[in-house]
Amino acid sequence: MSGAYHSDLAGKSALVTGAASGIGLACAEALAEAGAKVHLADIDDAVEKAAAGINGIAHVVDLTDAQAVETLPAEIDILVNNAGFQHIAPIHEFPPETFTGIQALMVTAPFLLIRRVLPNMYERGWGRVVNMSSVHGLRASPFKSAYVTAKHALEGLSKVTALEGAEHGVTSNCVNPGYVRTPLVTGQLQAQAEEHGLERDAVIEQVLLRRSAIKRLIEPADVAACVLWLSGDHAAHVTGTSIPLDGGWTAA
Ligand code: NAD
Repeated sequence: MSGAYHSDLAGKSALVTGAASGIGLACAEALAEAGAKVHLADIDDAVEKAAAGINGIAHVVDLTDAQAVETLPAEIDILVNNAGFQHIAPIHEFPPETFTGIQALMVTAPFLLIRRVLPNMYERGWGRVVNMSSVHGLRASPFKSAYVTAKHALEGLSKVTALEGAEHGVTSNCVNPGYVRTPLVTGQLQAQAEEHGLERDAVIEQVLLRRSAIKRLIEPADVAACVLWLSGDHAAHVTGTSIPLDGGWTAA
């Protein structure tokens, strides 16, 4: 295959949030393998080991702290807004502080990071913003009010970034996975089992993958491959859009 079909990111710098685990870690690995210098940001100091494994740079930060966000590098060519968490409860029992915490991490932090890196991207006339949304950025599920709200907001932020960045060579897109095999998903099985009165194994097929035509969890590396593709020169015309990797969920 010609080299033109590969994402060659030599000389580019990338910042991936939530890179200690799951999808973020897979994205950091894929971008590093393509030649980018990768900054890995996470609240979990396991990010140091993750960074060491790919010759990257670790930043242990709580992204809900606006001042901590200011410590992250601004000279970034590829920003992957990925950090997130889930909380499952019906709205009338949903803790308000958890609702605002999810918005802080999954909406305000991406806004602050985009705001921080854009001036340098504009100066260089090239940039890629990839926002890790979800099928829940396009569809709702019960008991996930904060998460669905945050992902829908991220979709809006991504589109505005695309419109403003277009004349500067900056694209912005969302990636929308269904259920991916990561701690975020395995960690919610118990809560889902209690909400739905099911065994944990039944939760995967009957609850999580109920609306997916493909009854198999997605692997983090498959999501990272999409992020890598969006980060390449060849994806210059792909902007302001959302790419479902959802096993047919949104087709139904
Ligand atoms: P994960 O739990 O494996 O990783 C999330 C990472 O975010 C963790 O390393 C965690 O330490 C970090 N993080 C949490 N709070 C933070 C904070 N305050 N500051 C900095 N870092 C923080 O989860 P994942 O499944 O890899 O999810 C990554 C992203 O993908 C999330 O935005 C999630 O909503 C999205 N997503 C996941 C799935 C899925 O099925 N796993 C599906 C669709 C979208």
